Amino acid sequence: MSKPIVAIVGRPNVGKSTLFNRIVGARVAIVEGQPGITRDRLYQEAEWSGRSFMLVDTGGIDFQENDEIVSNVRHQARLAIEEADLVLFVVDARSGLLGSDEEVANILRRTDTPVLLVANKVENFSLEDNPQFLEFYSLGLGEPIPVSAAEGKNTGDLLDQVITLLPLEIKDDYDPDVIKIAVIGRPNVGKSSLVNSILGQERVIVSNVPGTTRDAIDTPFERDDKHYVLIDTAGIRRKSRIYISTEKYSVLRSLKAIDRSDVALIVLDAEEGVTDQDKRIAGYAHEKGKASIIIINKWDLIEKDDHTMSIFTRKIREEMGFITYAPVLFISALTRQRVHRVLELVDYVSEQHSLRIATANLNTLIREALLHNAPPAPKGKRLKIYYATQKSVKPPTYILFVNDPELMHFSYLRYLENQLRLAYGLEGTPIIFKLRRRS
Ligand code: GDP
Ligand code: GDP
Repeated sequence: MSKPIVAIVGRPNVGKSTLFNRIVGARVAIVEGQPGITRDRLYQEAEWSGRSFMLVDTGGIDFQENDEIVSNVRHQARLAIEEADLVLFVVDARSGLLGSDEEVANILRRTDTPVLLVANKVENFSLEDNPQFLEFYSLGLGEPIPVSAAEGKNTGDLLDQVITLLPLEIKDDYDPDVIKIAVIGRPNVGKSSLVNSILGQERVIVSNVPGTTRDAIDTPFERDDKHYVLIDTAGIRRKSRIYISTEKYSVLRSLKAIDRSDVALIVLDAEEGVTDQDKRIAGYAHEKGKASIIIINKWDLIEKDDHTMSIFTRKIREEMGFITYAPVLFISALTRQRVHRVLELVDYVSEQHSLRIATANLNTLIREALLHNAPPAPKGKRLKIYYATQKSVKPPTYILFVNDPELMHFSYLRYLENQLRLAYGLEGTPIIFKLRRRS
């Protein structure tokens, strides 16, 4: 199930990032049980009245191909109507209506995507104090909603309107046994080529009825009586009305595909190595608790000797330290070198993703880990782990009952994680520990 996307659009300085922070609120900066990953400034999960959605500050996206401000705002608006389920168009009630606001409005008026017009910097709700407010009606986007993002005034009402306009969350109607695979990565790394190459293999039988969602083209297929769905984010780009050739653009789409998947194939271009964008995309798969495989494509283009692969692998491990559990596979979608390994690995990591460890075995392992390496004792008080149990799978999530969660140190969790991985593999899957106090 993917979360709806709400995009904030507007020219610089109207208060987009202030509004973003206000809506996202004081959510913890790190993901529970997965320290070391700071949340993204541009895309964050937000919640209101029990509905959650992804909030995107398009102002933080810098469209490199043209750094002129006005055209940047236009790009934001296009991206938003293409990718988002709802647009918050922010204008500045202090400065009043500007030409660039009108340009954006012209774009936003021409779509079916719902738009809320947000007039920010309204601290006092009287027309006397906001003489320019009425100008915004001329944008033809309905009634402007006055808010003060800085002081949090009326933002609750804004959010009430936001959630009434969100589409209902639609559940994927795939059988739970179906392995859902998202092929993610920057443009041109070879995602479509890989998809075609996988589907073109012997023994792979593509179903006649592809599923189509709004965000991706799903290709159900089977191999040896196992059922899979490929969520092809690359394919949809080709049929989209507007195509912005920016790398940032692909992130939103990858995000939605990751949400719906079990296994993420993180595709990198061997010639280009690891870029920041690759890290960001991989970070989402990790954060969302998905099984992952790192695929280095275009391996045919690399001049190699005996060490090339291990040097390359080491580099990836260094650059993407948070996802060292993901197997790395070197392929060529073009020559099909090692493409047959992809589904084998998908099977493998998805088993690991669903692995259950019997409670007795888990507790034996924890006990031994405690004996080998005693927990830290900051200020003389030592962490005690009384009992452990596996709460869920996809990804494997363990609850540790402890005397005091505050005494747990990140490095000790790492140690426990390593012990679990040594004993059970758990390759390709993140694992999560949750701490519960028990006195
Ligand atoms: P962005 O460029 O659209 O992301 O705008 P920012 O969020 O960075 O805000 C631009 C400026 O407007 C900053 O100086 C903010 O402090 C200020 N600002 C943002 N929201 C409000 C508001 O609700 N009221 C007032 N008075 N100032 C605000
Ligand atoms: P996508 O945007 O990630 O879906 O990338 P495409 O599948 O469209 O591939 C982008 C370009 O890279 C195309 O010109 C492909 O022919 C080329 N390409 C894809 N895979 C390989 C590969 O393994 N080796 C080589 N040499 N080229 C490839």
